[in-house]
Amino acid sequence: MFEKVLVANRGEIAVRVMAACEELGIGTVAVYSDADRDAGHVEYADEAYNVGPAPASESYLDQEAIVDVAERAGADAIHPGYGFLAENAAFARRVEATDGITWVGPPSDAMGTLGEKTNARTVMQAAGVPVVPGTTEPVDDADEVRALGEEYGYPIAIKAEGGGGGRGMKIVRSEAEVDDALESAQREGEAYFGNDSVYVEKYLESPKHIEVQVLADQHGNVRHLGERDCSLQRRHQKVIEEAPSPALDAELRDAIGEAARQGVREAGYTNAGTVEFLVENGEFYFMEVNTRIQVEHTVSEEVTGIDIVRWQLRVAAGEALAFDQDDVEIDGHAVEYRINAENPAADFAPTPGQLTTYRPPASIGVRLDHAVAQGDEIGGDYDSMIAKLVVSGDDRDHCLERSKRALEHFAVEGVHTTIPFHRLLLDDETFVAGEHTTTYLDRELDDDALEAAVDRWGPAEATAGDGTQAETAAVTVEVDGRRFDVVIEDGVPQAAAGGGGDAETGSGGGAGANATPEVTTADAITAEMQGTILSVAVEPGDEVAAGDVVCVLEAMKMENDVVAAGGGTVESVPVSDGDSVDMGDTLVTLE
Ligand code: ADP
Repeated sequence: MFEKVLVANRGEIAVRVMAACEELGIGTVAVYSDADRDAGHVEYADEAYNVGPAPASESYLDQEAIVDVAERAGADAIHPGYGFLAENAAFARRVEATDGITWVGPPSDAMGTLGEKTNARTVMQAAGVPVVPGTTEPVDDADEVRALGEEYGYPIAIKAEGGGGGRGMKIVRSEAEVDDALESAQREGEAYFGNDSVYVEKYLESPKHIEVQVLADQHGNVRHLGERDCSLQRRHQKVIEEAPSPALDAELRDAIGEAARQGVREAGYTNAGTVEFLVENGEFYFMEVNTRIQVEHTVSEEVTGIDIVRWQLRVAAGEALAFDQDDVEIDGHAVEYRINAENPAADFAPTPGQLTTYRPPASIGVRLDHAVAQGDEIGGDYDSMIAKLVVSGDDRDHCLERSKRALEHFAVEGVHTTIPFHRLLLDDETFVAGEHTTTYLDRELDDDALEAAVDRWGPAEATAGDGTQAETAAVTVEVDGRRFDVVIEDGVPQAAAGGGGDAETGSGGGAGANATPEVTTADAITAEMQGTILSVAVEPGDEVAAGDVVCVLEAMKMENDVVAAGGGTVESVPVSDGDSVDMGDTLVTLE
């Protein structure tokens, strides 16, 4: 077994990996950026090294710096977590080539084979796994796309080779949309992933997203740990994940699990991985492989009792998996709620700020993966995740009941969170019945309901996500010896201001008077938050349609797409790569 593992990541996943190391008696090395000097993962590690300034590109993505620290610290393995360098086959290759350091992940060759979407489709097809009908070669000609549209029938999806989370994916509903969609998929692929190569798939209208967790060792053993259902998505991004899926019967479950094993075996893959499928009308189709530990691995751990990260380490060290496929039993039900610093009522905009109160739930059936504590700052440099709340129960109903309790007792003040959104979902008939598909939220999520949920269950005080200060305050009063929590809306009267103001209008009230919405002309696309321009996807003269990405802004989330609200011709682009922008700055103007 390894003696010392460097964890090339931050936040909850870094702590999760270090916890597994600790249990195996392995020393831990953290890396951190200037923004993370006091971060939870740094505190947790046995030793920690600064790898550069706050922007991830200059620290957590600095391959040289990370390998250098591993050597200096005498680490004999590197675990990449998820995100950052986790799916970078070139980095894996570099680690493999470094004397005395093992890559805790699949071999770089297998990452290359299965991590590239069109390659993976070819491998899976060869292994007899059904794939979403589509091309296994990149496509760059609109006529070819139209021919494919004819062949598969519309709608089709044009997807960026390097894409993920729905980025660089354009849905095409008719022949007439092909030219524009092809161009914008290529543009987004280039802007996000530095790769304008795209391919075409049949677009399934209302599928379930089902993914299978696999573990493989270097001795030819491949096991699957059952499936996760990640069908609850917002704009193709997962928001709630669960295991097992409420939508599979035993037969389909076995068939999908075996297909995943078969495909992985074919590719000479080892370590942990996830094989993703879309399921519609009782049929399943391979979509892609994630060659790393995933955010939502927790729910599989909860229902199988198998510590996936521990096995990642053991398998990387050459050990054989000590259980057969038949030993893997699914017991009970688990759901993961991503608790993000975002305002659900402001289109889920990130709300950086200080966790003035942070009191997560406890007690039976509750697991919390996090790396923060009360008083910590949720900064704007990285993703907005605060914690993962994972709730387990005897069955799905029990798990959802427990989830209500856990979410009710999750107290966060200072920033908005996704907690009100999750609480809303627990009252949603379709979700509770397990009948939702990947398009359900985008079709049905009601803005008014979200606003009401945030009013009811959101923080009393927080930055609003649109940069303004929410105007409520919480106070506790005692009346006749009984305690009451009171929320005061629209400003708190302040004695110092001379007897307070008009609570109705907030005129004389506390800090942050009424927010005046930024008045922008309809044809100016402005920055919704402070950040850095990562890349610009358009130039003057380009035609853009509503929803097209015009540039990528690196802010609280690593990358935020700035999209055009309406269509038009690009008139000017006053920003360029690397520029710092403030909220409200004009990024692109349209004619
Ligand atoms: P990732 O799993 O890395 O986020 P994708 O961007 O390929 O990768 O897929 C994200 C989501 O987009 C899927 O979970 C699904 O909701 C949707 N999606 C992708 N491809 C298709 C397709 N061919 N038909 C319908 N939905 C799709």
